[in-house]
Amino acid sequence: MTLNELASHVSAEFKKIHGRPPRWLAAAPGRVNVIGEHTDYNDGFVLPMAIERYAVMAADGAPDDKKLIRIRDAAPGVEPVTIDLSAPIRPGAPKWGNYPRGVVAGFLARGARLGGLDVLLQSTVPLGGGLSSSAALEVCAATLLEAATGHPIDPVEKALLCQKAEHEFAGMPCGIMDQFISVMGRENRLLLLDCRSRKTDLVPMNDPSVAILIVNTNVKHELTGSEYPMRRKQCEAAAKILGVPSLRDATAEALERARGKMDDVVFRRARHVIGEIERTVHAAEGVRASNWPTVGLLMYASHRSLRDDYEVSCAELDAVVEIAESIGPRGGVFGCRMTGGGFGGCAVALVKSEAAGAISKTIAGEYKRKTGIEATIFNSRPAPGARILQNQTGRVWR
Ligand code: ADP
Ligand code: MG
Repeated sequence: MTLNELASHVSAEFKKIHGRPPRWLAAAPGRVNVIGEHTDYNDGFVLPMAIERYAVMAADGAPDDKKLIRIRDAAPGVEPVTIDLSAPIRPGAPKWGNYPRGVVAGFLARGARLGGLDVLLQSTVPLGGGLSSSAALEVCAATLLEAATGHPIDPVEKALLCQKAEHEFAGMPCGIMDQFISVMGRENRLLLLDCRSRKTDLVPMNDPSVAILIVNTNVKHELTGSEYPMRRKQCEAAAKILGVPSLRDATAEALERARGKMDDVVFRRARHVIGEIERTVHAAEGVRASNWPTVGLLMYASHRSLRDDYEVSCAELDAVVEIAESIGPRGGVFGCRMTGGGFGGCAVALVKSEAAGAISKTIAGEYKRKTGIEATIFNSRPAPGARILQNQTGRVWR
């Protein structure tokens, strides 16, 4: 479904439910990280792109003048969320409401004057698949509130407001990547983001001969939930031993020299992060030069490092990467790696556009044979970031 189709659909559904058309329509994309995994909270670089999958919200002021924001999900069986603006905003049930609750709280903290709203949400970003449905949801809510209040927010502040919502309301201590790319993505551009300085650089990826394939393994291994905080702690421990503020400041040589001073797990975690930061910067140069073989090899190296040193891959992700590697450059695959936090979710591949269809078919077939699971595969060009599709005075987009 294109964004236009999705927006029209949500708008029509809103009208069916509320008997009036929406006044505002806002959209925010999910993302795929091409390279730079688990570097964001180490002050490193990431290289994501926004994908052609969106959270869309249609809304109008609540006619009963109550100070309630009511959000329904167009997906069946999802409990609606009510946010009472006359009381302090706190996390609560249903859990998915904590993302928009945190965004509303962020707007109130900035002094925004909000009234009651009826909101309908629909998202084509797969939930929990590592394509950042959560940031799409937050950034979409923030974009809707920008429209409803008539006050646009500076993009960096907007992304940080959404990150804060995820930290404080959803309890997820995420980095800044997901919200930054959902806010700042551009058509035909990757976003090289320096997670330390927050400096952003849009890297052109105009070459139509290559495509990005996203392979959802459709598995999500439920771990104890402590894996992510544990990795963060191990990175902090390594930085402390190396005597640097974060692993961004460490070199591979310094780490080698300090090997005897840290346990093997901490060493390997740090080796991943230090190497991955370097690979990400090189990959951005490769994209800029349309040097696809080099970018592809960096993606494979990233995967091996995440599998062996950072230990966040899983059999299904490894299977996808092995299949991609066996298709090889002759079959049109330049590179492939797991993307997102790990333990399931998606892999991302850089492929020749003309071979994308055949490659998808081979990966789907081989993956099914190896794992018994159906993968979901789609391709995406780098998509534009969040925007208001319609405001009070009518459609403002396309
Ligand atoms: P990811 O961001 O990779 O998709 P997360 O676990 O960070 O995975 O976020 C997924 C969560 O975000 C879901 O469990 C749900 O609470 C919330 N969410 C995102 N999009 C929606 C949606 N359209 N409807 C309801 N909840 C959503
Ligand atoms: Mg998320």
